[in-house]
Amino acid sequence: AKEQGRNNFQFYSATYNRAALEHISLEAGLRRALSNDELELYYQPLVQACTGKVVGLEALLRWNDPREGAIAPDRFIPVAEDSGLILPLGEWVIREAGRQLSVWQAAGLSNACVSVNVSAIQLQRQDLVAIVDDVLEENGLNPWQLELEITETALMKIRPEVIGYLDKMRQKGVTISLDDFGTGYSSLSLLQELPISKLKIDKSFVRDMLIDPKDAAIVSAVLFIAKSLGLSSTAEGVETPEQAAYLASEGCDQLQGYLLSRPLPAAEMTRFLKSRKAL
Ligand code: C2E
Ligand code: CA
Ligand code: CA
Ligand code: CA
Repeated sequence: AKEQGRNNFQFYSATYNRAALEHISLEAGLRRALSNDELELYYQPLVQACTGKVVGLEALLRWNDPREGAIAPDRFIPVAEDSGLILPLGEWVIREAGRQLSVWQAAGLSNACVSVNVSAIQLQRQDLVAIVDDVLEENGLNPWQLELEITETALMKIRPEVIGYLDKMRQKGVTISLDDFGTGYSSLSLLQELPISKLKIDKSFVRDMLIDPKDAAIVSAVLFIAKSLGLSSTAEGVETPEQAAYLASEGCDQLQGYLLSRPLPAAEMTRFLKSRKAL
């Protein structure tokens, strides 16, 4: 038994070391990615449920590692958060998204709004108000053209002071939305206390809502809460026309998902916007 215990430990420690090594090499890689232009934003449209009009574009970060190829954000965002690299990285995302939107706007392709995902650490440690002001001014954008998406879990962790500055941004007209809504454990009173304007229904509920009545009930409940509190609503992960029709009939404001478009690199999104405009 003793022998086995030691083997278990060796096994555990080998697995642990592998994870730790991967973490370290990802961190070194990310540092390089930031200075070597290996980061790229993909864009996914948000459309108005009743008209199909593109009203928003969510910026989703991609890392093109020269050796490993594309690395998904779910793998490197946690590493960026642990190492503090999320601060320069997150700032780059806001600046790049603002710059790209102004390019589309100047080309007459979009007067939509761009949304960026913001991590809890950015909220705690970065002067987001200054960055946002700067990006709006530099690119000649209206505050309503910028949307910050914050996950429910991230918002639960923030200090009371942060609420004050989120409020400042909302008063300016910047949209603050609660991402992955329904997956965290926030109490409904949080919705009343936080300066948010929009709820994004997590794609896990949308996926099964036409099969599982419990998911359908959650979707209806979230839409009801949004309406009651005067918040707008977006459903993510919409993959079928049936899902889109159901969400529209339930009064969901905006739809996002593979049905409308996968996230696309900027050049492909330009073509997408042009073809939409020609309709
Ligand atoms: P998220 O903000 O919830 O983004 C939605 C995710 O769902 C994206 O994954 C998107 O590609 C995917 N998706 C979109 N439509 C569909 C669909 O119809 N079906 C399915 N199954 N999936 C769909 P992605 O791009 O891999 O991003 C994963 C997560 O990484 C994001 O989840 C977000 O939390 C985080 N992330 C992405 N970019 C950034 C960033 O710039 N900063 C931070 N802090 N987090 C980011
Ligand atoms: Ca998001
Ligand atoms: Ca989400
Ligand atoms: Ca998510």
